[in-house]
Amino acid sequence: MVYTIREVVSFLDSIAPPAYQESYDNAQLITGDPNAKVNGILCSLDATEAVVDEAISLGCNLIVAHHPFVFKGLKSFTGKNYVERTLIKAIKNDIAIFAIHTNLDHVAHGVNKKIADKIGLTKTKILSPKKGILNKLSAFVPSAAMEQVMTALFDAGAGKIGEYSGCSFISEGSGTFIPSENANPTIGRKNNPEKVSEIKIEVMFPSHLERQIIKALKKAHPYEEVAYYIHQLENENQEVGAGMVGELSNALDEKDFLAHLKSRMNLQVIKHTSLINKPIKKVAICGGSGIFLLNAAKKSGAEIFITSDVKYHEFFDADNQIVICDIGHYESEIFTKELLLELLSQKFTNIALYFTKIVTNPITYL
Ligand SMILES: [Zn+2]
Ligand SMILES: [Zn+2]
Repeated sequence: MVYTIREVVSFLDSIAPPAYQESYDNAQLITGDPNAKVNGILCSLDATEAVVDEAISLGCNLIVAHHPFVFKGLKSFTGKNYVERTLIKAIKNDIAIFAIHTNLDHVAHGVNKKIADKIGLTKTKILSPKKGILNKLSAFVPSAAMEQVMTALFDAGAGKIGEYSGCSFISEGSGTFIPSENANPTIGRKNNPEKVSEIKIEVMFPSHLERQIIKALKKAHPYEEVAYYIHQLENENQEVGAGMVGELSNALDEKDFLAHLKSRMNLQVIKHTSLINKPIKKVAICGGSGIFLLNAAKKSGAEIFITSDVKYHEFFDADNQIVICDIGHYESEIFTKELLLELLSQKFTNIALYFTKIVTNPITYL
């Protein structure tokens, strides 16, 4: 079985929908022909020139990286900086580069879940669930077509709440209409008032699936004109958002936990605020720069918050209520390359999959 880059991208998009990325982000296929056949995939935290060289030597023509190496519009391509040089090298050698960034940070089985697994956290939940990404569809269907319409809606991705699928609310009532002279009604006659026994189906769905869900509704619905409403919901989506909180199976003394963290995450250095003399049971995490989640971490009841890129004054905000740990951006997210390889291997069993052996961390410690 030969796959195209487009097929790999659409599989990854189904795991971490691009709609879940932050507005500043650039998670997408940055360079490469979507129709090219995939020879091999190299997974990496960063796409650098050295990683492109590694892809060439491994015979991989697709790099899947967590961090997009291009964030801003480029106006020239002369190789004056590493961004341009990486791009030029990739294009010259037919290497595609796909970035799966804050969308992968924000899904329940993404970057933070991988960190949680490394540390041994269970009962994981999103620390700051996203709002404004759920809609509700109310559709009116003649009773006889109820099953086929519901099946189509569920197949298109509607009606999932946490571990439950096929979630809907159904009520019975009557629909009225008068077909015009030019109408071609499934039920009723032209210019004749009709009253039909109908079912109202209400289902929630992720906003980014709206087009495919309405398409499925219209295809499965027997009427010429389909009556439906879409409402935007204020509900949080518990499955999507920044950071994660979870629990250790047994509480650990603070120093023991820091030693455990250091060994499980392969850390050279942990920068942390003063210990608060509480055993560690609940742990908040955010791979990459996550200090904006400090209040959410405190509210979650976590004794410790693990993230990176914390500035001097931000450490003061721990205020003896929580221990802030800065473990380094690269170190906090390095296992993302393993996560990417695991995700890809679920579907692409016959594509050669690798993760980079190059240390792309721009920071070294003396
Ligand atoms: Zn990240
Ligand atoms: Zn990052």
